[in-house]
Amino acid sequence: MTNLVLLGPPGSGKGTQASRLSADFQIPAISTGDILRAQEEAATPFSDQLRRYLDGGELVPDGLVIEIIRHRLHDPDTRQGFILDGFPRTVAQAAALDSMLEALTRPVDAVVYLKIAAAALLERLTLRHRADDRPEIVAHRIDIYVAQTAPLIEYYRAAGKLISVEADMPLEDVAAAIRAALTPMLGRRAPSVDLPASG
Ligand code: AMP
Repeated sequence: MTNLVLLGPPGSGKGTQASRLSADFQIPAISTGDILRAQEEAATPFSDQLRRYLDGGELVPDGLVIEIIRHRLHDPDTRQGFILDGFPRTVAQAAALDSMLEALTRPVDAVVYLKIAAAALLERLTLRHRADDRPEIVAHRIDIYVAQTAPLIEYYRAAGKLISVEADMPLEDVAAAIRAALTPMLGRRAPSVDLPASG
């Protein structure tokens, strides 16, 4: 079982690396952003309320995302492990995740922190075409990240779970750096990689 969390500012490549890790480890990548966008599009009585948070780049209340994750972690496909992308985003969410996983005796093994400078983020995010990728909303999302999510770096470092990876590199290089950092941490569970034959 391999339970991973991806941590990093908006635009740091969490989604891309989560997909890679999901394929490598054969475990699901769970994105609260994707789940919330799907709920918004499903046109339920909550859609309008949800849209205001998402399009405004505001965090959805902790209680809601915590329940989404609690629900999702009971799905059988998570039994071999999971990769969380975009959750937790606040210390309250991280504490809720810890107690949830403690009850399931499935602790987080490692937290991959994708480290990248703010200037590089703005450039990356303005190349995307999401409703919340307008420049003023992007700046707001980065402010929220700094205030609410960045404290999780210390939270997980103190827990001895943090792996810090330079994210301002081509995605293949970031993926290789993550793999190299995870191998000693996960030991035999890290997926083997087919290296191209040399010579
Ligand atoms: P993302 O796709 O991870 O960038 O998330 C897009 C948006 O979904 C965020 O700007 C928030 O509005 C909302 N969201 C996603 N994950 C969370 C979370 N863990 N807590 C609160 N809001 C979230």
